[in-house]
Amino acid sequence: MPHQVILEFETRRPEQYTAKLWRIPGTNGPFCALPADVGVLKILNSSIFINSYEKDNRVVFPVKYIPKWGENGLRFCLRFIFNSTKAGRSPNLRFLDRLVHEANFYTAHLLNLVGILVPHHFGIFTMETGAWAGRVMFSMTQWCGTPWKTLMGSKLDTAANRLLVGRTLEMFHDLGFLLNSREPEVSMGNPRDFCQILLDVDDPQATLEQCQRGQARCYIVGFAYAEPHECERLVPLLPIGPELFSSLTGIGCDELDNAAIVLGFGDRRKPSLSAAFDFSTANHARECTLAEAIKWHADFSAAHPTFSNSSVLIAQRRALFPEVAPLYPALCVEGVSPEDPTRELKLSEAGNVLDPAISSGRWTREELGYRLWGALSKARTIPRTAVPSRTPRIDSGSTASE
Ligand SMILES: [Zn+2]
Repeated sequence: MPHQVILEFETRRPEQYTAKLWRIPGTNGPFCALPADVGVLKILNSSIFINSYEKDNRVVFPVKYIPKWGENGLRFCLRFIFNSTKAGRSPNLRFLDRLVHEANFYTAHLLNLVGILVPHHFGIFTMETGAWAGRVMFSMTQWCGTPWKTLMGSKLDTAANRLLVGRTLEMFHDLGFLLNSREPEVSMGNPRDFCQILLDVDDPQATLEQCQRGQARCYIVGFAYAEPHECERLVPLLPIGPELFSSLTGIGCDELDNAAIVLGFGDRRKPSLSAAFDFSTANHARECTLAEAIKWHADFSAAHPTFSNSSVLIAQRRALFPEVAPLYPALCVEGVSPEDPTRELKLSEAGNVLDPAISSGRWTREELGYRLWGALSKARTIPRTAVPSRTPRIDSGSTASE
């Protein structure tokens, strides 16, 4: 595995800089292995981004042209801290702390999710650029597309994609993680928080129509304030309706409750949502109120006290909302009934029975990928994507070339 990479900035061409893997305080990894043929990372002026202070949208910095990504090259997200030795006198110091915290969280908790729900992380690198930008540090992760915050209101803001974002957040919580441990009661309650959810709509293999139908891959990024979490969510993230606003109990998890509101799930009459979630024909969805869904969860849990909450939620989704996409399409869910929560759940995958007492958070990376994507899970192992988050203010995409 290469422990260094060579960077070439368009603005400094033909100069090249060699970045070495930095030994991060608090961890020795392991990080994801860089591809051996990574080559020189060429960074166009148009591939350097900053999150705008005005609306928190990602914008090109400092030039105005639309980024031009390599057709088939590997793509990464590099989050830079320029002049890092002067960081003590600038907000950069906080950004470095966040990068370090995130790297530590990755190696401690997220290795089972990389390339599936979170980007590959290749470590933090450091390089000397002399008088230009001093010592530069950057984290290097997989490129994962465009933030949902940036896609809100665009032609990709479809009901299918809102449901996809909801499913991705549900899985992340069920796997045992909270995004914002500092302020969980307000986390994901503001559209700018959705800078941390990305859709890989830059994937050259996916058409616009496929992306509009919710078939792009969806990733979660930015783990500077993440922490382990035992989610007590009681219902799926679906267009439940105005009860989401009026419920005294909420749905059992503040971060996901807030996300449901921002995704518009408090308004089931919203035309864009009703197209993908047809309440006029979905009997259970039409008849199942939030209170009834919560009661089903309580009754099923009481009848099956050893089951993990992630298994209870899989059963509930199948029983009460069978017309919506499951979290794990390759899992076979049988035996549950909307009328009788005491009936036995049978979970299986390719004929192998799973123990519902085991939480999804204990699945291996291979199991998670297969249950999510089936045979396709092995088709994409090359990191091709990068991760803008609100953490450091400057992100950059780069294209590897020979
Ligand atoms: Zn939760």
